[in-house]
Amino acid sequence: MTTTVTPSLSDRINSVTPSATLEMAAKARELRAAGKDIIGLSLGEPDFNTPDYIKEAAIQAINDDYNAYTPVDGYVELKDAIITKFKRDNGLQYERSQIVVSTGAKQSLYNVAQVILNKGDEVILPCPYWVSYSDIVKLADGVPVEVPTTLENDFKMTPEQLEAAITPKTRMLWYSSPCNPSGSIYSEEELRALADVLQKHPQIIVVSDEIYEHINYGVTAHASMASFEDMYDRTVTVNGVAKAFAMTGWRIGYIGAPTYIAKATTKLQGQVTSGANCIAQRAVITALNESPDRIQFMVDKFKERRKLILELLNNIDGFKCNEPEGAFYVYPDITSYFGKTLNGVTIGNASDFAMYLLEYANVATVTGDAFGNGNCIRISYAASEEEIVEALARIKKALQ
Ligand SMILES: *Cc1c(COP(=O)(O)O)cnc(C)c1O
Repeated sequence: MTTTVTPSLSDRINSVTPSATLEMAAKARELRAAGKDIIGLSLGEPDFNTPDYIKEAAIQAINDDYNAYTPVDGYVELKDAIITKFKRDNGLQYERSQIVVSTGAKQSLYNVAQVILNKGDEVILPCPYWVSYSDIVKLADGVPVEVPTTLENDFKMTPEQLEAAITPKTRMLWYSSPCNPSGSIYSEEELRALADVLQKHPQIIVVSDEIYEHINYGVTAHASMASFEDMYDRTVTVNGVAKAFAMTGWRIGYIGAPTYIAKATTKLQGQVTSGANCIAQRAVITALNESPDRIQFMVDKFKERRKLILELLNNIDGFKCNEPEGAFYVYPDITSYFGKTLNGVTIGNASDFAMYLLEYANVATVTGDAFGNGNCIRISYAASEEEIVEALARIKKALQ
């Protein structure tokens, strides 16, 4: 008699949703392999190369034999560059003991969830939020509490909404500003109003994801929650170089945090990945020590493309857009298509709509469901002007 053992995986991994943005990229690749000409506007990745002055620092580091294990929390010279950056760009004062460098901002976020959350602790996520937040929270046995925002309010959570979402189990508030996917930016005044609510709830820690800080089109100035004296001791500021410096593959992110949190994430990281990559860290020292003016040319390009894509989108019936103030995405509301049948395909939700665009316009976008808001799709404009023009022409045609 033979017994078959059914392979089984942990409840933990079974509860995780695969990344929708990566899934869409895989589908687009499949169609491309089958000979289809797919325009990819789904990935959140600059279409620029890493600037030469940063690449040269990496080459120098290789030649200088930076090849040994790195300190778990990052090279001292990099921590000092981060301290200088926080002071220069954000008016934030941190000590070395408050800085931890990780393998991408994604690991920084994961670390923080792991060291703060206990089973059942609630984390408030204003929707739409970055695709990985809810799964990172679930992996730490936390409970994501989604707070829906509206296009009319520029996808920003109000103080009243925050207050209403808080329970005795609330442990954290997470948001990104500039926001992926909506491009919204909380002004200093708006953050202050949220901070005022949090004053009544001292158990809540804020995770402020500022990775798009430099990709700001100049309407609302960047503001950091930690810059308020009464929030400094309970805010983790997360940042990284992937987006603004066109360094997605280098995998360097970092936090500025209260020392006890920084120490705990260092302990965790020491048992998981150890210190981040040596060459990448050396390159990031140069990236951060140089003036942000050196990457402004990319921001200027994104700004032109934003104008272009908004014009083209507003020219298609049924798309309702806010004007994104930062990052490189538009997040149009497409609910007017729900219930319609196009080319024999009935659009029931945002996933159907994104799938329809992939098949009938050969344009890859991402369903808004992935970001906790099912009325929208996310379109990245980190693509060439030719691609944007062609993609939007195809979309317009497919929707007629
Ligand atoms: C891309 C992104 C990250 C992850 O950054 P990495 O440094 O590539 O890990 C984190 N937060 C937001 C909002 C992002 O868009």
